Amino acid sequence: MERGMRDDHVFHRDLSKKYPLITHGKGSYLYSEEGTRYLDACSGAVAANLGHGIEEIASAMANQAKRAAFVHTLRFETPVLYKLSEKIARFAPDGLNKVYFTSGGSEANESAIKLARQFHRDAGKPEKHVVIGRWQSYHGNTFGSLSAGGDIKRRQVYTPNLLHFTHIHSPNCLRCPFQRDKGDCDSRQDWSCSTSLEQLILEVGPQNVSAFIAEPITGSQLGSVVPPDNYFKEVRRICDQYDVLLIADEVMTGFGRTGKTFAIEYFDVIPDIITFGKGISAGYAPLAGMIVHDRLIKGLIQNSKGKFVHGYTYSGHPVSVAAGLAVLDIYEREKILENVVEKGNYLLQKLIELKREIPLIFDVRGKGLLLGLEFAADAEGTPFKQDLQITERINEKAIELGAVFYPGSGTINGYLGDHLIVSPPLNSKTNEIDELVHILRKSIKLTIEEIR
Ligand code: PLP
Repeated sequence: MERGMRDDHVFHRDLSKKYPLITHGKGSYLYSEEGTRYLDACSGAVAANLGHGIEEIASAMANQAKRAAFVHTLRFETPVLYKLSEKIARFAPDGLNKVYFTSGGSEANESAIKLARQFHRDAGKPEKHVVIGRWQSYHGNTFGSLSAGGDIKRRQVYTPNLLHFTHIHSPNCLRCPFQRDKGDCDSRQDWSCSTSLEQLILEVGPQNVSAFIAEPITGSQLGSVVPPDNYFKEVRRICDQYDVLLIADEVMTGFGRTGKTFAIEYFDVIPDIITFGKGISAGYAPLAGMIVHDRLIKGLIQNSKGKFVHGYTYSGHPVSVAAGLAVLDIYEREKILENVVEKGNYLLQKLIELKREIPLIFDVRGKGLLLGLEFAADAEGTPFKQDLQITERINEKAIELGAVFYPGSGTINGYLGDHLIVSPPLNSKTNEIDELVHILRKSIKLTIEEIR
């Protein structure tokens, strides 16, 4: 196939770039038309959590497509829908028992924002509609989810279209927004990452605030930053005090990525809604959704005649749901969580060794197989110049060497440095982790040579 012809009609997100043509994938690897092999060291977009070419999942999808490819869940249900909902509820924290499906994570968060609004309105609190999100967080690209998120670059173009949601800082002890030392915030009564939630609720007026949304471990915007131990406990207490729903966005972290089924389990709190995506179908089909606490369902039945004023054509799409069911079967059968903890610890140690070897790696962090590296120009953490696009360059080198990572950079009132997410499939093997680290080391070193 001729390259120029091939790309003519594809509207890529970045039309200035050329992309390798992938013809197939097997396990943790993708293969291009020319036969180049790429180690998928970021599971696509932290989604292809079991790697590629799994016959069992493909067959489950094909069988469902042959039986009933599409059933509108406004009128009918399917056996796979029952089974997957039951399984997800079994995995979810206590009290979260009803599952609402969407096609993607943005739609899932959109649904959660709407449910929070409807729940309060129908319970006689019609003013509650403002969502509080966090700067340097990401909840999706639809207008509601973009408004709740704090990704400055993605928000900028659409500012006039965004909803009037408000934001607090994301906790990031390495670059504390309140200039505190690590661990010196939990007991403080003045401004800190959790107390600022209370301050903002009071400023907006508790009668106006419907929900607070947060990623338990901040993914694409910060590069896998874990909050202080007590953060979510405080957040839960504040939400309860002001009747604000807590939405845990587990689109990236959910279904085992961090070594627990849901990352919020690390913090021992129960949210009102968990949104999920990516890992539920391991990227084999568009599938996402929200798991809703019994309390909200009870409210919906009592105050709204059981009707959620919302809906998508492809909600609970049988082929996607069949993929999800096959994926969860594999997660359970192959004890994937155990592999995530084991390989996550192994990879973390390797990355810490890499940091000792390469001083420009300023930080190594994360949980399970959602790990992040932050880069800085000196030991004090001064960011590289933004236009160097350091992690984009590292990733480009890695692609040339046969592996792909997930680069990003932070912005809030200006540029805050660069990170790289390392998130291989959850069933990765030790030799694949070794290969990943080898290519990463080389890519970083080549990049350093290039910018010197
Ligand atoms: N929420 C989080 C935490 C995410 O990481 C993402 C995607 O990266 C989304 C929401 C949006 O999901 P989607 O791209 O499936 O709409």
